[in-house]
Amino acid sequence: MADTIFGRIIRREIPARIEHEDDLCLAFHDVAPQAPVHVLVIPKRPIVSLAEAGPDDGQLLGHLVVVATEVARKLGLADGYRLVVNCGRDGGQSVDHLHVHLLGGRRLAWPPG
Ligand code: 5GP
Repeated sequence: MADTIFGRIIRREIPARIEHEDDLCLAFHDVAPQAPVHVLVIPKRPIVSLAEAGPDDGQLLGHLVVVATEVARKLGLADGYRLVVNCGRDGGQSVDHLHVHLLGGRRLAWPPG
């Protein structure tokens, strides 16, 4: 897959406010937050989108969700939060490196646009 801005964040070529890092993933604050807390959790292995993930990626996808819940706890989102994965053009995905949005810190509307 082509390199993306998230690849550059993983390699520390551009700065980001990092909340969590382990062998498999990185979690950092979104540069244009849509809520008081808006963190992105991304796999270090570049997967373009959910549509490109396969059966072997189940453990990795689960890990991203577990890390998102840990970051939510760490950042005090005791009243709740939302995890979002935009997939492809119709799903609103703008960066072609799979990522989980963690949004919280205010009451979120439903349904999304
Ligand atoms: P998507 O629209 O693909 O679901 O989400 C991509 C997210 O990446 C957007 O919320 C956008 O604000 C964020 N983003 C894009 N470029 C950067 C960047 O250079 N740094 C950070 N921290 N976030 C970025």
